[in-house]
Amino acid sequence: MIRTHALAMGLLLSVAIVAGGAMSESAAAASPERAALAANVTAKRLVNAAREPGQWMTYGGTYSEQRFSSLKQINSSNVGRLGLEWYADYETNQDQHGSPLYIDGVIYVSTARDVLYAFDAKTGKQLWKYNPMIHGERLRYNVGLVNRGIAAWRGKIYMGTLDARLVAVDAKTGKQVWSTDTVPASLGLGDMTNRYAITMAPRVAKGKVFIGASGGEFGVRGFIAAYDAETGKEVWRFWTVPGNPAKGFENKALARAAKTWSGDWWKFGGGGTVWDSAVYDPVTDLLYFGTGNATPWNPRVREPRIDDDLYTASIVAVNPDTGRYVWHYQETPADAWDFDAVSPMMTADLTIRGHKRHVILQPSKNGFFYVIEAATGKLISADPFTVENWASGVDVETGRPIVVRGARYASQPWDVAPGPQGGHSWHPNAFSPLTGLVYIPAWESYFTMANAPPGRRPPPGRFSLGIGMGVRLAPGQLQPYDRHGLSGRLEAWDPVARKIVWETPPFSQGRPTGGVLATAGNLVFMANGSGKVLSAYDARTGAKLWSFDAETAVYAAPISYELHGVQYIAASVGGAVQGGYFAPTNARMLVFALGGKAVLPKPLPYTPRQLNPPPLTASAGVVTRGGELYSQYCSVCHGIDGRQARSSFPNLTVTPLLWTQDGFDAVVLQGVRTDKGMGSFAADLKPEDAVAIREYLISRAIALKAAGPAALRPRFPGG
Ligand code: CA
Repeated sequence: MIRTHALAMGLLLSVAIVAGGAMSESAAAASPERAALAANVTAKRLVNAAREPGQWMTYGGTYSEQRFSSLKQINSSNVGRLGLEWYADYETNQDQHGSPLYIDGVIYVSTARDVLYAFDAKTGKQLWKYNPMIHGERLRYNVGLVNRGIAAWRGKIYMGTLDARLVAVDAKTGKQVWSTDTVPASLGLGDMTNRYAITMAPRVAKGKVFIGASGGEFGVRGFIAAYDAETGKEVWRFWTVPGNPAKGFENKALARAAKTWSGDWWKFGGGGTVWDSAVYDPVTDLLYFGTGNATPWNPRVREPRIDDDLYTASIVAVNPDTGRYVWHYQETPADAWDFDAVSPMMTADLTIRGHKRHVILQPSKNGFFYVIEAATGKLISADPFTVENWASGVDVETGRPIVVRGARYASQPWDVAPGPQGGHSWHPNAFSPLTGLVYIPAWESYFTMANAPPGRRPPPGRFSLGIGMGVRLAPGQLQPYDRHGLSGRLEAWDPVARKIVWETPPFSQGRPTGGVLATAGNLVFMANGSGKVLSAYDARTGAKLWSFDAETAVYAAPISYELHGVQYIAASVGGAVQGGYFAPTNARMLVFALGGKAVLPKPLPYTPRQLNPPPLTASAGVVTRGGELYSQYCSVCHGIDGRQARSSFPNLTVTPLLWTQDGFDAVVLQGVRTDKGMGSFAADLKPEDAVAIREYLISRAIALKAAGPAALRPRFPGG
């Protein structure tokens, strides 16, 4: 009895000790880990993020969004020893644009079509995966299944989705906490609703999550909105362009903006979408964001009187608590060239002409590098950082560009530089306070713009840019000169001296740059986009010091973090590589450290599917009808005439589903591939419509097969 009792006591005791030991052990070892898994990002941590250089808690690293890491274990003298430490595969092979976050031992990253992952940052072990199951009917106006990043706040990870939701996910478990439709029916947007999509990273501050949506080319009304981080409830919404005057304007700022529009602009939505950059600035307590082009591109098609069209192509500052307008600076009044002002912005403290200035820096899509006073929006300087031919400069007093005669292509086409691809797109920049340089993934691009024939005003809701496309003139006839194409480079720009300090030789493959990271190790990291090589450059000289073949495109900006005294570089990679649009692309997270020895598996051999259509049995009428439906519902993703438009969407002329209407319907009407981003179109298409679309695709496949191999070359629209 006693013995048994003692034994039992002993057992109990040892259990207690083990349990106690386990508890304290897990409390000691796992306390940081638990905190990590909880992503306990607080207001204090975010405002003081520079004091935690081992972390990467927001999209741009800190609230200033400088993408500068003050870690320097990896530096310009030892970067040659940088090697792959681990990698973790994604389930998608589509384009990866998402900047990861690193918080207390965990990497969080959003991947193509909004699948979110958490990885153990030491080992690469997947902790969880979350798929919001985007709704297909919201996807038909998309131009890419990309997601650019996420935000973290008090135990939750926030992500915008392609079907225009904002979701909050538990950082520990990956379970969805809430999901809010950012364009609910209560807004009365009608059929504009399904033209919104979110690709930008949410930003978080003061207990609110800020997000805008894209869709400017498809005719939507731009906005940015704030949501309660705990509940997902909308706190405020700032529309960037005025709506129908008959309904009254939401605020005075919009009433003022309405005076800069004419005709019935609101029927086309207006544009001004907030689709990439938003910066919360704790110094001024303002939220800055960039707005996109006005819709449609051609102002003569947009409205009867050419005017500024506020607040499109602008940087706008609002109060983050209320959404109240504070200031705006319009970069491109009466935009005619798709000059979204949404390119990544950062704040910095610079000494300009002997005065300390707190400024916003933006290398914009229109080719100018803007330095703007953060508190007031007053322009300090604007200089071309790449080839541009639409403005001879910017008047610093008025802030207005001096538009070159002819650049508005009213009477004859204009070969505009930058083209709609931009002088710089969404790819993040970096700024090093040590060198005082801004590192820009700069592009040189050209595009011929022509006035649409008179009377060619598109009906609202129908995709149209309002310009003449594919204009070809006799050699020597095109103004101001006849250039084409797109190239990119890494450029180091001095925002005080207003000049290029160094630049790499140009990269000329399909999409020529990725995003940038600068570090205190005197390094700048950037990849050459679809050229698939990630490189490190000397931050002062631009000398290339290190390269890594990622075996896939690299678009997202790398980040840096520190764990157990080791500095890491993490890059989310994936996307079709040059010359291999159809190939699987090995999308994954790559993590590097000094002495890293991991090796990527060899890319799988890949044979593209061949055209193998069944015989055509439908009438010409059915095929024509199918073509119309295809054009309306499918072409934005799958290509204009049944050929593949984008690397990451299936080419439907080669799909085996052409052999089975049941299989085709399972995808198109029943949504069996919703988890892959292809939702059901049952709300829009009847069974006979799906038959007509399939018959149309069969007819296209037969025609392409008859035309021979040249016809199979994929279309690859720039930007
Ligand atoms: Ca645009």
